[in-house]
Amino acid sequence: MDCKKEVNLTRCNCSYEPCPRKGTCCDCISYHKSYGELPACYFNDADEKTYNRSIEFFIKSRSR
Ligand code: SF4
Repeated sequence: MDCKKEVNLTRCNCSYEPCPRKGTCCDCISYHKSYGELPACYFNDADEKTYNRSIEFFIKSRSR
């Protein structure tokens, strides 16, 4: 199976430009999971820009 990086990038809402994992979702999820976090695409665009990827913030953002 080929990497779908180019397709993934069209759906990625992450605004953290220097990240080398953008579009490589397997690496992105693995990275944030290792910190007990979720990737940018779990958050709306405004919340994503806070760079707070914590599960606690995710729950708060969904209950507003
Ligand atoms: S969510 Fe995190 S790992 Fe994924 S592209 Fe953005 S900054 Fe990189």
